[in-house]
Amino acid sequence: MVLLFSPPLHRQRHQFVIDFIKRNKPKKVVDLGCNECTLLRKLKFHREIELLVGVDINSAAMTKKMYELAPISTEYLLPSYDQLSIELYQGSVTQKDGRLRGFDLVTSIELIEHLHLADVERFSEVLFGYMAPVSVIVSTPNSEFNPLLPGLTGFRHSDHKFEWTRAEFQSWALQVCLEHGYEVQFTGVGLAPPGQRERVGFCSQIGVFHRLSGRDDARLLPGDDAHEIFSYTLLYSIAYPSLRDNNVLRRILVSEVLYWAEQLKRGWMEEKTGEGEEASALCQTQGGGGERLSERQAEMEEKQTGSAGRCVCVPLAKLWSCCPRVQAMSGSVSHLSRFLLDDPLVKLTQDGSAVLVDDQEQDQEEEEYDDLEDTGCTEASQCSLSAVQQEDWEVDL
Ligand code: SAM
Repeated sequence: MVLLFSPPLHRQRHQFVIDFIKRNKPKKVVDLGCNECTLLRKLKFHREIELLVGVDINSAAMTKKMYELAPISTEYLLPSYDQLSIELYQGSVTQKDGRLRGFDLVTSIELIEHLHLADVERFSEVLFGYMAPVSVIVSTPNSEFNPLLPGLTGFRHSDHKFEWTRAEFQSWALQVCLEHGYEVQFTGVGLAPPGQRERVGFCSQIGVFHRLSGRDDARLLPGDDAHEIFSYTLLYSIAYPSLRDNNVLRRILVSEVLYWAEQLKRGWMEEKTGEGEEASALCQTQGGGGERLSERQAEMEEKQTGSAGRCVCVPLAKLWSCCPRVQAMSGSVSHLSRFLLDDPLVKLTQDGSAVLVDDQEQDQEEEEYDDLEDTGCTEASQCSLSAVQQEDWEVDL
């Protein structure tokens, strides 16, 4: 078929849904007849949504690209506080399933015309009577537009069971509103050429429904019966990493702390070396840096942690003040200390006020670790061990 619309009609329908979501900020969204998850793959970027669900009778279509719904690597490395879970179910929209009740928005984009008329009735009852979401967007072809589609004879798709005129669509929609307590506005996407718009309407007609009882309807709370109905098959489920999950928060916080502690230590060592002090001399020094340290350096000190191990103490207060991300994640220095206390990757001073970082350079560190391992030098090896464990943890990501 000749391309009549720019952007293409399917994109205009999806953009309509996205614009609605931007305005209304629903947290729980279901896309019925999600097919290859095209709309879901766009909606996963709208992080006001916390639960995104797709349903289709055709599992092969759904699974084709479902792995594109998974988080990308940066979402593991730099998770936000947003929460998002995505679930895909195989099932028919004419069947009830308790897991789909209480949603903020249900979309049914070019689905209804694939149902036999007897099933449209069941679908209406399931969607508006049982799922009872706050809002519903239904799009379907407008048959009055068909004469403008070049080369079209019959329906727009071989699987369509009907295509409604505007009056037919509106009659179904208004009946549904009457029976289930909704109101509806009619609109559409895909403009006809100027001069014909009034006569033929939009190419895809759209009804936007809102439940009259708003968000606090008792029907939103699934009753015992509702819990027992699980007619759909779960095909895919993924929870995005979120800083609201304590385990994720701890992992990210620890990696930030280790990174910044290392940076601060390096800056301090460089400053000391720049002042004329030999790096080798520095390694032999014991105790605090003394009067020659600048204000910044004075906040750190070197510590002997064992017969062969020496560490630089990086005060948590210093880390906290120079790393906004650590501030945001921990809230206060005492929280930060509590977070790090039991973490095997972080070595704290006894009073929990500073992180101990090995004062050797990276390349020396590895050699030293090997040596220490051979000699079984426990306390010093703990400092180096943290670097090794961190690498293992990063591989897991
Ligand atoms: N909504 C999709 C989009 O915007 O990209 C396109 C929908 S496609 C034209 C129609 C979909 O409805 C197909 O994937 C089909 O498998 C699905 N479908 C048909 N009958 C169904 C039923 N009874 N229950 C659930 N899905 C059904």
